[in-house]
Amino acid sequence: MSDSELKPSVALIIPVYNEEEVLPQLIRELEVFRATRSETIRIYLVNDGSTDSTFVLARELTTSFQGYVLIDFSRNFGHQLAVSAGLEICEEDAAIIMDADLQDPLAVAGEMIDKWQEGSDIVHGVRRSRQGVSFMERITARLYYRVFRALTGVEAPMDAGDFRLLARPVINAFGKFKEQQPYVRGLISWLGFNQASVEFDRPARAAGETKYPWKRRLDLAFDGLISFSGRPLRWAMRLGLLISAGSIAGLCWVLLTKYIFQTAITGWASLIFVAFFFGGVQLFFLGLVGSYLARVYDEVKDRPRYVIRTIHHSEGASSGSKAVPRGFDTQTREGS
Ligand code: UDP
Ligand code: MG
Repeated sequence: MSDSELKPSVALIIPVYNEEEVLPQLIRELEVFRATRSETIRIYLVNDGSTDSTFVLARELTTSFQGYVLIDFSRNFGHQLAVSAGLEICEEDAAIIMDADLQDPLAVAGEMIDKWQEGSDIVHGVRRSRQGVSFMERITARLYYRVFRALTGVEAPMDAGDFRLLARPVINAFGKFKEQQPYVRGLISWLGFNQASVEFDRPARAAGETKYPWKRRLDLAFDGLISFSGRPLRWAMRLGLLISAGSIAGLCWVLLTKYIFQTAITGWASLIFVAFFFGGVQLFFLGLVGSYLARVYDEVKDRPRYVIRTIHHSEGASSGSKAVPRGFDTQTREGS
C-alpha cells in the first residue's frame, strides 16, 4: 500500500458560478493550503452552468496540478444541487463544503479537519462576525435561523451557512436524500451524528459579486422552512378557525345592535375593506398550500436533479482524466 493510501483524504467541494474573477486567487490559496497539510486533499470544483469563462479558466489553472476534479453541469441548477453533486461524486474520507470566493477561510477548513481527526463527524463553521453584509441582512439572517429552529425542531446551529466538514458516514447518509430542492444545511443537521463547530470571522468576498441576490436568498429561506415543517399549514387552519369564531361573535353583535338596541351602525362601505382584507388572507394561505403542493408535484415527477455534461480530472490525478467515479455516465449523469 502506498503512503498516500494510508493518509486520510479530504475532499473540498467548491461550487463555482461565474467566478472567473476569484479563481486565480482561489487556486493559489488552495495550493498553499494543500502544501501545509499532511492529509491527501482533492478539490472538486462544480461548475454550476457559468456563463463566463469559469470552466475554461478552471481547466487552465489546474492543468499542471494533481487532484482537481472539475464537474461541469449542463446548466445552472443552483448552489444546493452543486453541493449535493460534489458530495455524491467525491470518494474521500471526509468532505468540506465551501464557497469559491474565499469567504470560508482555508485556515478554518484546517481547523475542521483537526476536529474531525479528534473524532467529530460533522464540523460546522459558525460565523462570529460577517464582513461585507448589510445590517439588515445580518438581522434577518439571525432571525431566520431562530425561526427555523423554533418551527422545525431541527437543531441546526445558529448563524452557520453551508461551510462545514462531513465525515464519510455522514456523506453516505446524505447521499440517501433525493430531494429535488435540498436544503443542505438543514438536512445535514437533521442527520444527527456527532456534531462540533468552529467559530470564525467571515471576511467579505475576495473578488466578484454575490451570486445570491435577495430573491434567491428569500427562495432558499422559504424552501428551508417548508421542506422541514408542515406547521404553516396548521397555522392557516387555526387562523381560519379563529376568524370564523370571531365572525360569529360579530354577527351576534350586529343582530343585537339592529333589533335590540336599535343602534345599527350605517356606513357599510367599511365592509369592503374587511372583504379585501380577508380576500388577501385567503389568497396568502392558498398560495402557501400551493407551495407545498408544488413541492409534492416536483417530487412526484422524479426528474433528474441535475445533469452533468462532463467530469474532468486535472492532469496527473491518480485516477486519470477519463475515470469517472462510481459508475458515472458523464453524458447524462443524473442526481438520481
Ligand atoms: N453558486 C453556485 N450556483 C448558484 C449561485 C452560487 O454554484 O446558482 C456558488 C458561488 O459561486 C459561490 C457559492 O455558491 O461559490 C456561494 O455563493 P455566493 O458566495 O455568491 O453567496 P454569498 O456568500 O454571497 O451568500
Ligand atoms: Mg460567498
